[in-house]
Amino acid sequence: MAIRILADEVVSQIAAGEVIERPASVVKELIENAIDAGASAIMIRTEEAGKRIIEIIDNGCGIQSDELEKAVMRHATSKLTNAEDLFHIHTLGFRGEALAAAGSVSRMRITTCTAEGNNGYSITVDGGKITGIHQTGTKQGTIVQVTDLFYNVPARLKFLKSDVTERNQIEILISRYALAYPNIRWQSTHDGKPGIRTTGNADYREVLTAIYGVDIAKKLIEIDLKEEGISVFGFISPVALTRSNRREMNFFVNGRWIQDVQLNSAIIRAYQSLIMVGRYPIAALFISMDPEEVDVNVHPSKAEVRFRSPDKVFGIVHRAVRRSLIFQSPVPEIHSNAQWPGWHAPANPQSNDNELTTVVDNPAEGIPVAFWRTELPQNQIPPNNSIPAGSSSAILQPQSNFQTAPINPGFPILRWIGQIGGTYVIAEGPDGLYLIDQHAAHERILFEKLMGQVDSRIASQSLLEPAIVQVSAWQTSLLEENMDILTRLGFRIELFGPATYRILSIPEIFTKGNPAAAVRSIVEDFEEDETPLQSEIEKRIAGRICKSMAVKAGQPLSEEEQRGLIRDLENCQSPRTCPHGRPTMIHLSIHLLERQFGRKGTI
Ligand code: ADP
Ligand code: MG
Repeated sequence: MAIRILADEVVSQIAAGEVIERPASVVKELIENAIDAGASAIMIRTEEAGKRIIEIIDNGCGIQSDELEKAVMRHATSKLTNAEDLFHIHTLGFRGEALAAAGSVSRMRITTCTAEGNNGYSITVDGGKITGIHQTGTKQGTIVQVTDLFYNVPARLKFLKSDVTERNQIEILISRYALAYPNIRWQSTHDGKPGIRTTGNADYREVLTAIYGVDIAKKLIEIDLKEEGISVFGFISPVALTRSNRREMNFFVNGRWIQDVQLNSAIIRAYQSLIMVGRYPIAALFISMDPEEVDVNVHPSKAEVRFRSPDKVFGIVHRAVRRSLIFQSPVPEIHSNAQWPGWHAPANPQSNDNELTTVVDNPAEGIPVAFWRTELPQNQIPPNNSIPAGSSSAILQPQSNFQTAPINPGFPILRWIGQIGGTYVIAEGPDGLYLIDQHAAHERILFEKLMGQVDSRIASQSLLEPAIVQVSAWQTSLLEENMDILTRLGFRIELFGPATYRILSIPEIFTKGNPAAAVRSIVEDFEEDETPLQSEIEKRIAGRICKSMAVKAGQPLSEEEQRGLIRDLENCQSPRTCPHGRPTMIHLSIHLLERQFGRKGTI
């Protein structure tokens, strides 16, 4: 094929592809323009996840009528004059590409008026071609409407994710800017539903509350450190508040949100040994330095930067975070694991913040101590008969001491003895002592009950007083996306306000527990782009809810409740582990006790 110069249209579509990948990229560019224009209020409205309409209204300086045409041309900018300027950038934009790119892949209308202009003007662009400029009445500021995004590049449309994901991306993005610019009044709506709202009174905590909800916002620790011309200000989570992904670690360099692997690891290192491996903090860090110290021109979407002295920057960030953590956060108590001589307790990376759990292995015998009824002599195995439905009442409800035979043949018949540390229920079995982790066991019980009912219909009960749950703006669409599953699992939840939901009813089996916390726990640990099979999502959600609703370690239980827990565990299909795979109980065999007491052999 002969070499040819590409037509202008093709060139601009290729260029647009770098800047505008999805609806959220349009929102990003338009928001940046509004911020650069000095707006003190920015409104964002989208329809159909931005594919149908993206509208950004600002009260910034506006564009002069004689410059409107230029504004939508490629490489046209008011923010840069020569290459030298690239190292003194004080604005978010500088490439002069965004409006041209957005206009080339949509139908775009810009309506604008400057402070001096007596009249407003509007320009319309269709697939990159200017189709008209009109005089019109409007207030000072700019309205950019982008409709039918990618109508002329259908291939792009096919690459977009579900509306929920795309909308989530947009809302995450707006949240980031709202946080970086708390002096701007932000307001977003998606298909008429309210998203984030802030007052613009420069109060970071207020924006944090709008994003994360009040519970988390008030826990975040403020950090502030200035060293060698670099300042690090922001908010980090205390060690007890972590996430399973890095998504909520956000960095802003001179007001620009950026992604940086090394900054991520500087923070993770600062938390090292304070939080579990595989868990990540929440962080919003604003790093400021002389613009000459950062090269912002390394990426078309301007989401990456290069530091002139990277080590210096990472060092300061690391110190700022570490110091605040050590000074302001209670260092978690270290519990000795050596309960018995000769026993060791490996650290359990799965275990959760609010639990005191230890998996005990028995190196002396080379097998995990949890042992099961398969080792019982045949004649001790109870008949595998069934239990009348409903007889395995939820624990925490008094129940009869009548012993029903367990349906699970792989499980020892246990006699209740007591509870230690408000955490472990002690029971005697056919061959020794059993320690049951009440939280893990209850989690398993609730999980099986819930999943057992799901195909018929889960018995649901109305809450006397609806529980209000505030999720972070970033999590709203995640919750919406999984609403059908929650309904199937017996929850009735409705939108109550911006990022606020009202729980009207919950599954009957959850007699105690905090419904709001359970709902929040669902959205907290989901990765945004994860798309497990539908059936897996349901199980995972059920698992999370049960974990949240289960009795906690350290919670004293009545004798009936403890007996009930044992009975209910016996009736589980898989009583050995909690839904997350941790053991529900450990077994100290008679044999082992004898050896420990020096009756038989040595250890
Ligand atoms: P850049 O932001 O890199 O300069 P854009 O294509 O995004 O490039 O915008 C081109 C120019 O249009 C900007 O330099 C600015 O002068 C003007 N402009 C764009 N959006 C706005 C706005 N919301 N308010 C005022 N001026 C704007
Ligand atoms: Mg721009």
